[in-house]
Amino acid sequence: MKPFVPQLVYIEPRALEYPLGRELKEKFENMGLEIRETTSHNQVRGIPGDNELQQYRNAKSTLVVGVRKTLKFDTSKPSAEYAIPLATGCMGHCHYCYLQTTLGSKPYIRTYVNLDEIFEQAEKYMEERKPEITRFEAACTSDIVGIDHLTHSLKKAIEYFGESEHGQLRFVTKFHHVDHLLDAKHNGKTRFRFSINSRYVIKNFEPGTSSFDERLEAARKVAGAGYPLGFIVAPIYRHEGWEEGYRELFERLHQSLDGVNLEDITFELIQHRFTKPAKRVIMKRYPKTKLEMDEEQRKYKWGRYGIGKYVYQTDEAKELENTIRESIQTFFPKAEIQYFT
Ligand code: SF4
Repeated sequence: MKPFVPQLVYIEPRALEYPLGRELKEKFENMGLEIRETTSHNQVRGIPGDNELQQYRNAKSTLVVGVRKTLKFDTSKPSAEYAIPLATGCMGHCHYCYLQTTLGSKPYIRTYVNLDEIFEQAEKYMEERKPEITRFEAACTSDIVGIDHLTHSLKKAIEYFGESEHGQLRFVTKFHHVDHLLDAKHNGKTRFRFSINSRYVIKNFEPGTSSFDERLEAARKVAGAGYPLGFIVAPIYRHEGWEEGYRELFERLHQSLDGVNLEDITFELIQHRFTKPAKRVIMKRYPKTKLEMDEEQRKYKWGRYGIGKYVYQTDEAKELENTIRESIQTFFPKAEIQYFT
């Protein structure tokens, strides 16, 4: 999988008041990309495409360089205290992705150049909680690693938290373009996680992302660079033969990490869920998807903003959790399983 290159770039004029905004403009000009000006991302107009579906696909390869105005961070339980907003949107095409609905009609990728203001805000949250450690999740609204070879804002965040006394950074990715992050001065304050799944899930539901082997090669590099390493298994999905599919996943993972220190590895486990609005959007954007979303088969769980989600029935979820915990304990007896949700 090649590193992401946008087909079209929009730049907000205010972004040029920041060094990173100017740097990116020059970089994209040198790369020969089409650059347009837009007053704000809400005014992004003219993404090419004859119909909604084409526009959606093109939007996913459009990058908007802008200024983050809302500096109030969302919470990010259970993986961290706060979501740090470095970017939104993603060029991947995972059918189940929750960004389908959270980004609604604006699926283009936005990167923010006012990093110092974002870091200042993070500092305030750390001050409020100290001496407790405050964890910041950088991949709540995008797959930040997938675009960072262009922007290096994640690298700056890693180095920022590397210096901090009470802050830690974490993010998860399905991309393997990590080389520029290997020499970042992380000081062990950043947990680098990779998203992994059974062959069935990766093959059927994760187009436009790096392969399992590429992710694992990147994981080895990252561990070699001294980063604390983790894996998120999400969404855990009951496909035909899932028991064997997930057992094989951990076996392959174990083989691939030969030579890596497995003492400080973490796992986070998230079962598949969907909301009614997400289902509607997914069926429109990926009409041939094999993703099973039958409300009748699932358990309804009340959610934020009155939008409930459909998770597996309690006994099915328990079965998933037990099977996966067992596999992890077999292949990674020293790893920490942080949660199943
Ligand atoms: Fe969504 Fe992550 Fe897939 Fe990107 S890589 S489409 S953020 S699930």
